[in-house]
Amino acid sequence: AGGQEQQERAAREVRQRAILRVAVPVPLRRLFDYLPPAGMTSEDCRPGQRFWVPFGKRSLVAVLVDVVDDSPFDELKPALERIDSHPVFDQRSRQFLQWAADYYQAPAGELYAAALPVALRKGKPADYWAEQWLELTTEGKGLPETALARAKKQQALLQLLLSCGRQSRTALNARGLNSTVCKALIERGLARWVSGPTAPPPIENAEPKPAPDLNDEQQQAIDAIRFGSFSASLLEGTTGSGKTEVYLRLMERALREGKQALLLVPEIGLTPQTLRRIAARFPDFRIAALHSGLADGERARAWLSAASGVADIVIGTRSAIFTPLPRLGVILVDEEHDGSFKQQDGVRYSARDLSVVLAKRAGVPVMLGSATPSLESLHNALSGRYQHLHLRHRAGNARPPQISLVPTLHQQLQEGFAPQVLRHIGETLGRGEQVLVFINRRGYAPALTCDDCGWLADCPHCSSKLTLHRRQRHLRCHHCDYRMREVHSCPQCHSRNLNALGAGTERSEDFLAHTFNQFPVIRVDRDTTSSKQALDRLLEPARNGEPCLLLGTQMLAKGHHLPRVTLVVIQDADGGLFSADFRAPERMGQLLEQVAGRAGRGDLAGHVLLQSRYPEHPMLQLLLNKGYGAFARQLLEERALTQLPPIRAMALVRAECEEARWAEEFLTNARHYLEALAPPSPQLQYLGPVPALLERKSGRFRFYLQITAEKRGLLQQMLARFCAWAEGNKNRRLRWAVDMDAQEL
Ligand code: ADP
Ligand code: ZN
Ligand code: ZN
Repeated sequence: AGGQEQQERAAREVRQRAILRVAVPVPLRRLFDYLPPAGMTSEDCRPGQRFWVPFGKRSLVAVLVDVVDDSPFDELKPALERIDSHPVFDQRSRQFLQWAADYYQAPAGELYAAALPVALRKGKPADYWAEQWLELTTEGKGLPETALARAKKQQALLQLLLSCGRQSRTALNARGLNSTVCKALIERGLARWVSGPTAPPPIENAEPKPAPDLNDEQQQAIDAIRFGSFSASLLEGTTGSGKTEVYLRLMERALREGKQALLLVPEIGLTPQTLRRIAARFPDFRIAALHSGLADGERARAWLSAASGVADIVIGTRSAIFTPLPRLGVILVDEEHDGSFKQQDGVRYSARDLSVVLAKRAGVPVMLGSATPSLESLHNALSGRYQHLHLRHRAGNARPPQISLVPTLHQQLQEGFAPQVLRHIGETLGRGEQVLVFINRRGYAPALTCDDCGWLADCPHCSSKLTLHRRQRHLRCHHCDYRMREVHSCPQCHSRNLNALGAGTERSEDFLAHTFNQFPVIRVDRDTTSSKQALDRLLEPARNGEPCLLLGTQMLAKGHHLPRVTLVVIQDADGGLFSADFRAPERMGQLLEQVAGRAGRGDLAGHVLLQSRYPEHPMLQLLLNKGYGAFARQLLEERALTQLPPIRAMALVRAECEEARWAEEFLTNARHYLEALAPPSPQLQYLGPVPALLERKSGRFRFYLQITAEKRGLLQQMLARFCAWAEGNKNRRLRWAVDMDAQEL
C-alpha cells in the first residue's frame, strides 16, 4: 500500500510542476503542452516568449501562451530551449491573436508564425540586436528643463531625454554626447542604462516639411476623433482630398500623447515616396516601416522596435496588424478597400477588419480611409456602426477631373485606341503636360493563337491562357508562373500564321512610343518594377514635371501624386461588367475611380477618357454621372436583394486536389456534415460544391462550398465543429481551408 501511495505522490508532483502550453506552427487547431527546458522552472518561463520544442522528428519554434499546472496528457516532453529572455508578444497581442485564430478558424500556431518576421520565426534570438538605452529615472523626469544650468553638456542631454524620451547609445554618440556626460547624469541618480532592441533602420532623404493649413472638412474629420477610447470611422474622401494629411494629423496627436501610431497601407502603397512624406513630417520620431523590401534582419529589427515600444510610428502592409504595440494610440488604414488587406492563402485574415477589432480591444480610435470605400465599410458607416466622415472637395486648388466615355464598338481602332483618344494624348503632350494610360494587362498580348488550325497557347497546369511576353521572348502563365519559349510556328500544324490577340502593356508601349516618339514613354507594371526602388526611379521624370506618357497597370492607380498628369486614358473600362464574381462591379468601380483620380491633382484641370464597348451600360452610366458614392450605394441595395455580403455573413470551405472528384467529394461530405448541424433555412444558405472561378491552378482542381448566414455567431460555431471534423481527413493530397469573409470566388 505504501508503494502505491508513494507512486501517487510522485505522479502528483510531476503534474504540479509548471506546464508550458504553447502554440506550434502546424495546421492543427489546438495548443500543445511541454515541460520547461532542463534546468528551468516556471519562474523562467513567461507567456510571449519563444521556445524550441521537439515536435515529432523535428524541432519547431513555439510561442508560450500560458503556464498551467495540469495537463490532460501524461507523457510530456521538456521543451528544448528558451529563445527569449523577454516576451516578444505582450498580453494584448496574445489575446488578439487568439481572437483572430478563433474568428478565422485558424491554428493559433500558424497565426503566431504569420505575426513574426521571418528571422524570428526561424528562431533567431530577439536580443540579437540588443542595444544600450539611456533613460531618465523618476527623479530625472521630475526636473525642469532649466536644471543643471552649470553643466552645459549635461543640461543638453537632460533636455533631449525630457523632450524626446530615451536615447540609444549610438544616437547619443552621433550627437556628440559621449559616455562621460551620460555617466555624470547617472551618478546624480537622474538616468540609467537599460538594454533594449536597436532603433528601426533609418529612412532616407527626409527633409522636414511644414504642414499645410487644414481646410474645414479636414478639420471636422480630425475633431470628430476622440483619443483614449474606441471609435471606428470611415473617412470617405474623394481622390486628392487630403486624406493623408488627416492621417498625419492624427498620428501627430498620438505621438504628442506618447502613444504609437499604426498606419496600414496596401501592398503597392508602401513606396519610398510615402515613407519620405511621413519621415519629413516627423523628423524627431522613430519610424518602423515593415515591408517586403527589407532584408530579414532589418525587418526583424523594425518589428522588434515596434514590439518593444521603441518605434513611435509603425507603417506596414497587412501582417503589420499582428505586431505587438505596447503604446498603441491610433490605427489608420489607408485605401481600406484594397484587396491586399485580405490574405488569400494560409491563414486567410483581413487586416482591415482586424484593425477594428484591435482598436476596440486596445480602446483606441481607428480610421478607415478611401475614395472608394468597400461595400463592407460603407455598410457599417451607413448603418451607424462607424462614424461617417467626408472630404468632398479636393485639397488646395485642384478640381475634380472631367470624365467622358469613348465608344469603341464601330470605330477604327489603332492598337486598341480610338482616333480621338490619340488626338487628345498628342495635344496634352504638346502642351507640356503628362498623360497616364491605364491598361489592365501586363505582357505583350494576353493570348497567342494559330489562324490556320485554331490552336491556343494554354497553361498545362491551370485553366487559363498563356500571356505572350515579347521582351523576354516567352509565354507565361500569370497564375502559376509556368514559362515556355516564344514559338514562331504553330506546335500543332506548323503554320507560321500565329496571331497575338489583344493588347498588354508591352504592345501598347511599342505603339505609343512609336506614335509619340518626341516624348518619353514610361511603362509601369510588375515586370518593370521588380523592387520598390525601381518604381520610385521610374517615376522620377514624371515627378520632375517633364511632359511624358505613363503607361501601366493598377500599380499606377494607387497613391501616386503626380500633379502634372492632366489626361488619364482607360483603354478598356468593361472589365467588370460581365464577370461571374458578384464583387466584380464593385472592384471595377473602385479601379476606374482611382485611376481617374490621378488626373488633375495639381493646379491644372484634369480629363479622363474611358473607352468602352458598352457606353450605355447602366453601371457605367451611374458611375460616370453620379460618381462612386452613388454607384456603391446602388450595389449595396443589390446585395441586400440577393442576400450577399456585407448584408449577410459569408464563409467558403475550399478544397483543392489533383483529382477533381476528391475535392468535390470532400465538399459534398462537408455540406452533409454542416447541414446536419444546421439545416438550410431562410437565415442559412448553402451553395455548392462549385468550381472556383479559376478552376484549375498549378495542377490542382479547386472547388468551394459557400455558406451565407444572417448571424455570424452561428457560422462560427458550425465552422469550428467542422474544422475539428475535417482535421481527421486522411487524404494527404487534398488541401482544404475555411475562408471566413472570403473575397475571391
Ligand atoms: P489623398 O490622400 O486624399 O489622395 P493627399 O493627402 O495626398 O490626398 O493630398 C493631395 C495633395 O493636396 C497633396 O499634395 C497634399 O500635400 C495637398 N494638401 C492636403 N491637404 C491640404 C490643405 N489643407 N491645403 C493645401 N494642400 C493640401
Ligand atoms: Zn495551327
Ligand atoms: Zn498556370
